Amino acid sequence: HPIYGEEHTVIGAVGDGRPVNRDQFILMDGVDRVVPISRPFKLASREFSLQDSAFPLNGISIDPGHVVIIAGPCSVESRTQILEAAHAVKEAGAHALRGGAFKPRTSPYSFQGMGEEGLELLAEAREQTGLPIVTEVMTPEQIPLVAKYADMLQIGARNMQNYSLLKAVGQCECSVLIKRGLSSTVEELLMAAEYVLSKGNRRVVLCERGIRTFETSTRNTTDINAIPVLKAQTHLPVVLDPSHGTGHWEYVTAIARAGIAAGADGLIIEVHPDPDNAVSDGGQSLKPERFAEMVKQVAGIAGILGKQLAPQVS
Ligand code: PEP
Ligand code: MN
Repeated sequence: HPIYGEEHTVIGAVGDGRPVNRDQFILMDGVDRVVPISRPFKLASREFSLQDSAFPLNGISIDPGHVVIIAGPCSVESRTQILEAAHAVKEAGAHALRGGAFKPRTSPYSFQGMGEEGLELLAEAREQTGLPIVTEVMTPEQIPLVAKYADMLQIGARNMQNYSLLKAVGQCECSVLIKRGLSSTVEELLMAAEYVLSKGNRRVVLCERGIRTFETSTRNTTDINAIPVLKAQTHLPVVLDPSHGTGHWEYVTAIARAGIAAGADGLIIEVHPDPDNAVSDGGQSLKPERFAEMVKQVAGIAGILGKQLAPQVS
């Protein structure tokens, strides 16, 4: 797995864990150093790439100096809803539009998403606003369809350890957002990323979205610790989802600020033009005007850290 830098080429040699004689590599022409990576994740580890990963996403750039904000409704519900949401989040400063067309719902009787029609509406919203699209893919079979419309494929928390799905997105051209499993450790999240990277796809973003704890006053418990821990252990960009992390719109802005203060490279936020009538996650969705206020506050926190919001698409 080579990474070509300005001055050095790093070659990741990944095996199945059986011992190898390292001297054979150091004796080769052009080899400067051999660095064993002791962690179970290799390509995802900081040792593999000292530089933070950066990549373009259809008109925007995901890079370490900038904070990127992905926003939109939990689910695509109708043409009016998604277009209204898309224009509102762009106006407020968002860089990309989220919205689920295939929804992983706890109950089989809940709204399951609009499917391809939802993807078409997302594409229309992108056409009107220029915002790249982030949307969930739930099965390997859905990838060709979803990738036809999406700029970034979301692997939902419930699928973080769906290894056939991870291998399949590892083989596609799309960027990938991997959400931390409801009861997964940071290391398990990094191993999920490793699956995608090991198949050749380097455009991976990690997302902390709250974990299950004994606490019941919030839907999940945002693991703020995970942000500096991930930043220390991996070169991959890390974003926070305070909407699922808290489950209540009242707490979203505070935890969004905390995430950026803790070093997150971005946020993914649920925003709905009419949260009271949302078909999913209305209670944790911000109204556009509250989202606009959140963006201002987040920009202020980013500034203290010497970062800026990423430039928006024109
Ligand atoms: C979502 O983003 O709407 C979603 C279902 O998230 P998660 O997989 O983190 O629960
Ligand atoms: Mn949701």
